[in-house]
Amino acid sequence: MAKDAKCEQTPSPRASRSPSSLGSPQKVELKTERLTPIAELDIGDVRLQQINRILNRSRKIVVLTGAGISCNAGIPDFRSSSGLYELVKKQFPELPIMSGQEMFDISLFRDELKISVFATFMEKLYSSVQMAQPTKTHKFIAHLKNRNKLLRCYTQNIDGLEENLGLEMSNNETNDTTITAFNSRWKNFDVVQLHGDLNSLACTRCFHVFQWSRYWCRSFRRGELPTCPTCEEQNYKRFQQGKRQTGITGLLRPNIVLYGENHPSCEFIAQGLTLDVQRGKPDFLIIMGTSLKVDGVKRVVRQISKQVHERGGIVILVNKTSIGDSSWHGVIDYQIMRDCDEWVTYLEAQIPDFFKTQEQIDKLRQLRREASDLRKKALEEQKQNNLLTMIKTPPSTPVRKDQKQAQSFDGNLENVKKRLVTTSKSPCKRQKKLPDNEKISKRKPKYIHYTNSQLSQYIMKRHLLFKSEKLML
Ligand SMILES: [Zn+2]
Repeated sequence: MAKDAKCEQTPSPRASRSPSSLGSPQKVELKTERLTPIAELDIGDVRLQQINRILNRSRKIVVLTGAGISCNAGIPDFRSSSGLYELVKKQFPELPIMSGQEMFDISLFRDELKISVFATFMEKLYSSVQMAQPTKTHKFIAHLKNRNKLLRCYTQNIDGLEENLGLEMSNNETNDTTITAFNSRWKNFDVVQLHGDLNSLACTRCFHVFQWSRYWCRSFRRGELPTCPTCEEQNYKRFQQGKRQTGITGLLRPNIVLYGENHPSCEFIAQGLTLDVQRGKPDFLIIMGTSLKVDGVKRVVRQISKQVHERGGIVILVNKTSIGDSSWHGVIDYQIMRDCDEWVTYLEAQIPDFFKTQEQIDKLRQLRREASDLRKKALEEQKQNNLLTMIKTPPSTPVRKDQKQAQSFDGNLENVKKRLVTTSKSPCKRQKKLPDNEKISKRKPKYIHYTNSQLSQYIMKRHLLFKSEKLML
């Protein structure tokens, strides 16, 4: 059951480092009704510890990423002060563009100057992506795939850096429309590019897709969008056939989704998202490097979050800047307000086993199985050896209790006799002085004082009785 936010208390540093919190982790209800920010990656923070634990045991993780995960790779985002919009404003101060969103709005195709600026910066962005290397966060996503824990990664990024790590991108999808084929195709995709792919070009008219070439790169750099070869070919065919010329030839632009236009594969993505939500059993949602400003992305988060919460999982957002909390209560549980790579580094230190590769884990399991088999074998051998020893050694004849007592008593009597004989030869320690008329013979009875602790009172009395009988005789 969700816990009231008023009851959620940030543990003080002292409390969080107490031995009790380190020894036996405090149970924290992680699902929250209000988005809770976590400002520091404190190793003693019990909420972070619990998040790590849940992440460690999750099986179907959904990741949603934004420009923040690629900033450390040197790829500028649209909105920040060092982003693409600011670069454009510096180079073209006279350009009537008020925001990054406006620069990438579909309406730019109505303005020749905007088209020129758009072409120039798309080529710059493409070149920087070609030089960029995947970040720690990209590798984290690839690692989730390696561990079979990645259900899907939805990304708003157009750089496609995940492909460098061997992840399968959704832009490689084919046009097979049968349901069976769709399910199997969708399952093969690791990364779904919600806003398209910068690494390919598409015609504005026939939507034919091409790969970048050096020739076209030069065209973009000059601020010109190249014409579509397919459209030109079609026009030429019509000309040869004597048909009416349409006079329309499409332009090549990066295969990305601009503000104000629909994704060409929106139906495909919507169908796949439904499949993930209904059958994918997502149990953890990690949103990274995005402020969640785009409406379509907001809907994706809400759909997945609902399913994750129903399955007892949690939703976290890792982003440096706050997204505000008014509209995300009950949808996102925690916002970790740190750089994404920094958070991954923190995870590596806190849950190192999580970062073992599947091959390492399989090898460890095999070693454990072999060690267990060896232990069982050694135990069996030990049992058999013990059995053989018991068979070779005949058991001693059991002695009855009363016999033991008799032997003990006889031994005592023998000891007494021996002592009597021994002590009779030794000088008397104390002799009773008898009157002369009572001295009948030279052999006089002797009083012997036994100090040996082995002689009991009972034996002493028996001895005195024996002596008195002798006297009477
Ligand atoms: Zn075309």
